[in-house]
Amino acid sequence: MSTSSLAKPLRLLLLGAPGSGKGTQTSRLLKVFPKMQSVASGDLLRQQIKDKTSLGVLASSYITKGSLIPDELITKLLISYLAENCWLTPKSSWLLDGFPRTVNQGQILDHKLSSSDVNLNLVVELDVPESVILDRIENRFVHVPSGRIYNLKYNPPKVPGRDDITGEPLTKRPDDNVEVFAKRLQEYKRLVEPLKEYYANKNVLKTVSGETSDIIFPKLCDLIVNDFGAK
Ligand code: ATP
Ligand code: MG
Repeated sequence: MSTSSLAKPLRLLLLGAPGSGKGTQTSRLLKVFPKMQSVASGDLLRQQIKDKTSLGVLASSYITKGSLIPDELITKLLISYLAENCWLTPKSSWLLDGFPRTVNQGQILDHKLSSSDVNLNLVVELDVPESVILDRIENRFVHVPSGRIYNLKYNPPKVPGRDDITGEPLTKRPDDNVEVFAKRLQEYKRLVEPLKEYYANKNVLKTVSGETSDIIFPKLCDLIVNDFGAK
C-alpha cells in the first residue's frame, strides 16, 4: 500500500492479546501514514531494563513473572513520554501499543489528554485466535533498541540472529516462554473486558479479526481511512 495522509488527527490505541500482532500492525501503519508517531509501553520498559535505570530494575521483577507493573509507574512513564514528544498538541497523530492496560490507567490518561483536548479517537482490538498466538510467541525475537520484531517462521531476519537495519543482535524476550506467556494471556483476558467496555461507552471501540497480520492489516487501514478520511 502506498503512503497516505490523514484528513484529521488520529489518536489510536491498539488493544490485543500478547502476540496478537500489535507491534507488527504498528510498523506497517507507520509506513502507510509516515507522519504518525507510535510508542509501545513494553518497548519503553525493555529500554529502561537495558539501561539499568531504577525503574528498569523494578519493572524487570514484574515483567519476568508476567505481572503488570503498578499503574502509577507506567502512567508516569508514558505520560512523560507523550509530553516530551509533543503528542499533546492537537495536530499530531499517534498510536499507543500496550498502554493503557487497565481502566484505571485509561482514566488517568484520559484526564491528561482531555486537559489538552486531544482525547483518544479510535481504539481497535486485534482479535486473533489463541492457537495462532501461541505458535507466534515461540518463534518471536526482538531488537530491543528499536522494538523491531522478527518471527523465525513468518518474518525471519536477513542474517540469522541479527537486526536487518543495524546488524545488532536479536534477543528472545524473557517473558516469551510457555509458563510466563500463559500468565500474561490470562491477565490480558481478565483486564481487557472492562477496558473494552470503558472505550465502548466512549464510542471509540472497534474490533478487527483475522488469523494473520496480512488479513488484519487491510481491515485496519480501511477502518482508519473511513473514519479519518485519508486524502
Ligand atoms: P506483546 O508485545 O506480544 O503484544 P504484551 O502486550 O504482553 O505482549 P508488552 O506490551 O511488551 O507485552 O509488555 C510486556 C510487559 O511489560 C507486560 O507483561 C507488563 O509486565 C509490562 N507492561 C507493559 N505495558 C504495561 C502497562 N500498560 N501496565 C502495566 N504493565 C505493563
Ligand atoms: Mg508488543
